[in-house]
Amino acid sequence: TKESGRNHYQFYNPEMSLEIAENFALETQLHQAIKNEELILHYQPQINIKTGQVYGLEALVRWKSPNLGLVGPNKFIPIAEKTGLILPVGEWVLKTACQQNKKWQQMGLPPVRVAVNLSAQQLQQPDLIKTVEKILDLVGLEPQWLELEVTESILMKNTTLASQTLHELRNMGVYISMDDFGTGYSSLGYLKKFPFDTLKIDQSFVRELNQNPEDISIISAIMTLSRGFNMRVIAEGVENQEQLNLLQQLDCEEMQGYFFSHPLTQEEVLNYLLSFNQQ
Ligand code: C2E
Ligand code: CA
Ligand code: CA
Ligand code: CA
Repeated sequence: TKESGRNHYQFYNPEMSLEIAENFALETQLHQAIKNEELILHYQPQINIKTGQVYGLEALVRWKSPNLGLVGPNKFIPIAEKTGLILPVGEWVLKTACQQNKKWQQMGLPPVRVAVNLSAQQLQQPDLIKTVEKILDLVGLEPQWLELEVTESILMKNTTLASQTLHELRNMGVYISMDDFGTGYSSLGYLKKFPFDTLKIDQSFVRELNQNPEDISIISAIMTLSRGFNMRVIAEGVENQEQLNLLQQLDCEEMQGYFFSHPLTQEEVLNYLLSFNQQ
């Protein structure tokens, strides 16, 4: 049949086997990367446009590979997830982000929250809470300066455990946000089940905001919803003034995106925070 013919073709698709070979090579090298301290974090500022303050920084991992150059997370996080490497990678990210945030505080900068992305596998670890507690303790960072970002899709596996874990983390004082909100398949009922402080409006709703009235309706509905649930809202992927203006009109005060800043190295964050607060 045509169907099996297509599968047959796909199986021998040379591009696909190249991808498998590439992934395998990546996996092997990624093992080394953790040991060799080749992972780095960049931090993207989150701004409250009403107060004009940077209140948060999202930690975004990169891999400085000696052979491959700077590799973005979309390239290696999926592989890390498939191979289980996401656990050591994720723990490294959590610890490094907390340590760095503590350093900024010790330098006398106005305190900000550091936001760390969590993977499904991390959330399913029975000892995640202990791991977070241990890191905060070790680093001496108060829980209110840490935020954990989870996507809808990672909540769909083992919902009960995920909900329990997130509630315990929330009770510890750690902030929880729902990343890429509106793009997953979860029901709105999740908003009742999980203890979110913040909804992060996915960049796909922001991208064409000035051309698409549909996107305005969606964001406006999210704003209404958030008020009912007493949650904060941040818009991601804000790239220009028009988007900022429209979001402002929709009462969305918190934003993140290239318009304010690309993700920054730790040294750049320092300068950014210093200059931003003088404006
Ligand atoms: P995300 O959590 O949705 O992060 C936002 C992504 O959008 C980042 O890409 C960021 O650089 C990019 N971005 C920020 N502002 C703009 C903008 O104005 N316009 C556009 N077009 N893009 C913008 P990045 O750093 O490549 O990260 C991609 C994804 O990789 C993240 O998406 C997240 O899902 C994942 N990721 C990154 N770091 C980690 C990590 O430490 N752990 C886990 N599990 N996943 C991570
Ligand atoms: Ca995120
Ligand atoms: Ca996102
Ligand atoms: Ca995303």
